Amino acid sequence: MLKFIDNYLLKNITTLSIGGPAKKFAAVKTQEELVQAIQYAKENNLDYLIIGGGSNLLIADEGVNALVIKNEIVGISASGESKPTPEVPVKVKVKSGTPLQALVDYAISHQLAGLQKLAGIPGTVGGAIYGNAGAYGQAISDHLITVTTLNPNNLTIQQFNNPECRFGYRDSIFKKTHHFILEVEFQLTAGDTIELKKEAEQTLAARLIKYPKGIKCPGSFFKNLIASDLPAEILARIPAGKIVYGKIPAGTLLEIVGAKDQSVDGIEIAPYHANLFLNTGTGTAKAFYTLAKEYAKKVKEKFGVILEPEVQLINLPPLL
Ligand SMILES: Cc1cc2nc3c(=O)[nH]c(=O)nc-3n(C[C@H](O)[C@H](O)[C@H](O)COP(=O)(O)OP(=O)(O)OC[C@H]3O[C@@H](n4cnc5c(N)ncnc54)[C@H](O)[C@@H]3O)c2cc1C
Repeated sequence: MLKFIDNYLLKNITTLSIGGPAKKFAAVKTQEELVQAIQYAKENNLDYLIIGGGSNLLIADEGVNALVIKNEIVGISASGESKPTPEVPVKVKVKSGTPLQALVDYAISHQLAGLQKLAGIPGTVGGAIYGNAGAYGQAISDHLITVTTLNPNNLTIQQFNNPECRFGYRDSIFKKTHHFILEVEFQLTAGDTIELKKEAEQTLAARLIKYPKGIKCPGSFFKNLIASDLPAEILARIPAGKIVYGKIPAGTLLEIVGAKDQSVDGIEIAPYHANLFLNTGTGTAKAFYTLAKEYAKKVKEKFGVILEPEVQLINLPPLL
């Protein structure tokens, strides 16, 4: 029997350790429980919000007047028993509540390439699909074939192939449809476990410098800017050499307007990275929002560009 908890403090399940109470909360372990939770919300006239690992969220201190559903539906399976070969790729199906790291580990140990650079990204596979998570030139969408969703409006199951998911930089169609991502299928080719392990370890070592153990943050706060989207007069104001892989790091612009090492009431911008906002322990969503808004405004004034949060703001107004 699914348990519904009143006034559950969401700071307990966000990597930022910030977030007020959810009016109702339920952790679901099966698709049937997910359907039960949605039906409960509908019967009780409640909005609903699905949360995976809570690693990309800034939730208001007031919390949310909704049923928050924590996705704990896990599992990984692969087609065929034999070892992968360069000629025969392997199809891997993964349930959306599976930690992304578990999928990366699975792929590496089964000699499957294409996910190893996602090592160390916190959260679930569902959350990674929602925002097309990626790092070091690899994205979760690279080797994806289909996403299976539950449409919460009519409780039907739908399938999206890769182009239908409309993946972009930290973007997917699921930010618009608000379907619940249930399962994802990848097609992965053969790799060498030792080499894949080495790549993952190098990635993890590089990540540890930016994100030391125990850090309370939601990852990078603002999206980087795609250079080709910007008009020439704005590009002319960006210092030469700051365009990396066709993107202008938000951190570069934030650094220029003096964001590094600034703080407000327990929220600090890292002294070594201007796009990394941290909770030092006593931070609130209000302080985080104030600091982020202040520096987004400064970037807009200096460069004429609007930085968009990569992190999902829950029960908070748009920054600018
Ligand atoms: C230390 C640190 C480092 C990070 N590094 C990176 C990085 O290198 N690259 C990167 O891309 N991100 C990075 N992130 C951000 C974050 O880890 C990713 O965005 C992650 O994929 C979010 O997954 P999640 O399960 O935690 O999602 P959550 O934070 O729980 O949710 C994020 C959004 O996804 C939606 N969602 C979650 N699950 C589902 C589902 N099953 N169906 C529909 N919608 C769903 C939620 O409603 C919410 O709107 C980092 C975060 C931290 C804390």
